[in-house]
Amino acid sequence: MYSLFHQRMNEHLKDIDVYEAGKPIELVVREFGVDPKDIVKLASNENPLGTSPKVAKVICEHANRAHMYPDDSMYALKEALSKKFLVEHENLIIGAGSDQVLSFISHLLLNSSKSILTSRVSFAMYDIYAAHHGAKVIKTPSYQHKADEFIPLIKKHSPSIVYLCTPNNPTGDAMDIDEVYKIIEATDSSTTLVVIDGAYMEYAQAKSNRYKIEPSKIIKKYPNVLYLGTFSKAYGLGGMRVGYGIAREDFIKALLKVRPPFNITTLSMAAAVEALNDTEFVEKTLLIHSQEISRYEEFAKEHNIKYIPSATNFITYLFEGERESDRLYEYMLKRGVIVRNLASYGMNALRITVGTKKQNERVFELLSKALN
Ligand SMILES: *Cc1c(COP(=O)(O)O)cnc(C)c1O
Repeated sequence: MYSLFHQRMNEHLKDIDVYEAGKPIELVVREFGVDPKDIVKLASNENPLGTSPKVAKVICEHANRAHMYPDDSMYALKEALSKKFLVEHENLIIGAGSDQVLSFISHLLLNSSKSILTSRVSFAMYDIYAAHHGAKVIKTPSYQHKADEFIPLIKKHSPSIVYLCTPNNPTGDAMDIDEVYKIIEATDSSTTLVVIDGAYMEYAQAKSNRYKIEPSKIIKKYPNVLYLGTFSKAYGLGGMRVGYGIAREDFIKALLKVRPPFNITTLSMAAAVEALNDTEFVEKTLLIHSQEISRYEEFAKEHNIKYIPSATNFITYLFEGERESDRLYEYMLKRGVIVRNLASYGMNALRITVGTKKQNERVFELLSKALN
C-alpha cells in the first residue's frame, strides 16, 4: 500500500523528513528505565513555571462549552491583541500556533519557481513549509542574522519570503533593530515579504531595548512585513496551540483565504485571552528566567564552555571536542535529562531550555560529571 501512495504522491513532497519534536518523556522512561518523576525535559523551550493558575481556571470554566464551535471571528482574542499591540482587528490573523500562520504564508506565496531566504541555522519549519510547495531554500553563510549577508542574497535571488527569526531559534541570539530595518529596506516590497518571527520577543525586550520590535510601527512603515508572535513560550501555553500574525490589512485579507474555519479551539481562545490579562505571570516568568539564565552563564565560564549570549528562554552551549555534543546529549539522556542536540544543524552544540532552579541544578550536576 505504501509504495502505491508513494508513487502517486506529489513529486516534491517525497523527500520531506517528518518533523521530529523533542524526545517525549515516555520514550526516556521506556528506553532507559528512568523514573518518570526524575525526568527533566528541557528540549522544547516550554515555560518551566507551567500553566498560569488563572489561565488553568479559565480553561476549566470553558470546559462545558466544548460542544460549540468557537467564535470564528475570534473577536475576544483579536480585541485583546489589538489593545496590546496598538493595531486593528484587520491587522491580525490567528493560527493554531504561529506555526500554522507560517503554513498559511507559505501556501499563499510559494511554488516551485519561488524561493525563501533564511540564516544558515534557524527555525526548521521555514524549510519544511517551503518544501511543501517545492520552493527553493537559500541560506546565508553564518548562523547569525547579518545584514551584510542577507542583502546581497536578497538582491541576487529576490526571494518571495525572507525570514528574520529574532531572537533566533535554535541559537538564541537576537538582532539589533537597526539591522532589521537595514534588511527590510533592501527588499523590493512588490516581490518579497519579510517575516519577523518574534516567538521569543518577550524575553529579548526584557533584556534590551535594542532588540525590541513594535509591530504597529513596523507595519505602518513597511507594506511587506509580517510580524509573528506566539503564546507557546513566555505565556506558557504550548499545549493550547495559539499564535498570531500582524501585518497590513490587505495582506491579512489575502492570508485569510487559506485559513480553515475554526482553526483554534474554544478553550485555546479563552486561555489566550486570559494569558494576556495575567501580566503578573509573564513578569514572574521573565524575572525567574533572568536569574536562572545567569547561572548557566556562570556555569559555562567556570567550565570553559563557549556559549551564544541568549535573548531567549534557552541557552546554546558550543563545544570543541569531536562529536562532543553527541556524547554529552547521550550522557544526559540516559540519566533522564532531555536537551536538544544541534548536531543535525551542523553545530557541535546543545540547546538547553532554562528550567526551574532544581531542574537547572540537575543539568549542572550531570554536565560537570560528563565534562570531568
Ligand atoms: C516555538 C516557535 C514558534 C512557534 O511555535 P507555536 O507553538 O507553533 O506557536 C515559531 N517560531 C519559533 C522560532 C519558535 O521557536
